[in-house]
Amino acid sequence: MNAGKQWYKTFSLQELRKGLGVTGRQLFRKKTTIMYPEEKTPKSPRFRGLHALRRYANGEERCIACKLCEAVCPALAITIDSEEREDGSRRTTRYDIDLFKCVYCGFCEEACPVDAIVMTDIHEFHMEENHECIIDKQRLLEIGDKHEQEIAAARKQDSTYR
Ligand code: SF4
Ligand code: SF4
Repeated sequence: MNAGKQWYKTFSLQELRKGLGVTGRQLFRKKTTIMYPEEKTPKSPRFRGLHALRRYANGEERCIACKLCEAVCPALAITIDSEEREDGSRRTTRYDIDLFKCVYCGFCEEACPVDAIVMTDIHEFHMEENHECIIDKQRLLEIGDKHEQEIAAARKQDSTYR
């Protein structure tokens, strides 16, 4: 660009006016931003947030301690111990997930034959102490119990694709 054109461009504030034009046009368009956390966007039923362990309607734990989730986990984030009950069924005595190791890939959920370990749409959680990164069976079942309706609804919505 020659010096004259450059001079004209600078003193006519061409670039500034172009930028203000873009801003002005956006003022009257539908807003794509939201006021989080007061407003929230809808989430996919496949959203991979905090884990939960589910129960059947009669209160029995779904998990049969097959350890497929532990085996498939690429981050080695799941630790399971199990024992046989008096009735011959097998259940976990320990089910820990290390949330610092977890990469939220969802493989555990995919591998589970009884829909026991699932990933909820909860993404707003935090830890204040190092040891809190381990989420144990008790806590996982509590999350499952508390959010069973949402979990079941999300899985139903996604069932045609599974
Ligand atoms: S989401 Fe992936 S990384 Fe996390 S516990 Fe499950 S399998 Fe492991
Ligand atoms: S959560 Fe599912 S895959 Fe993991 S041990 Fe229990 S039944 Fe097996």
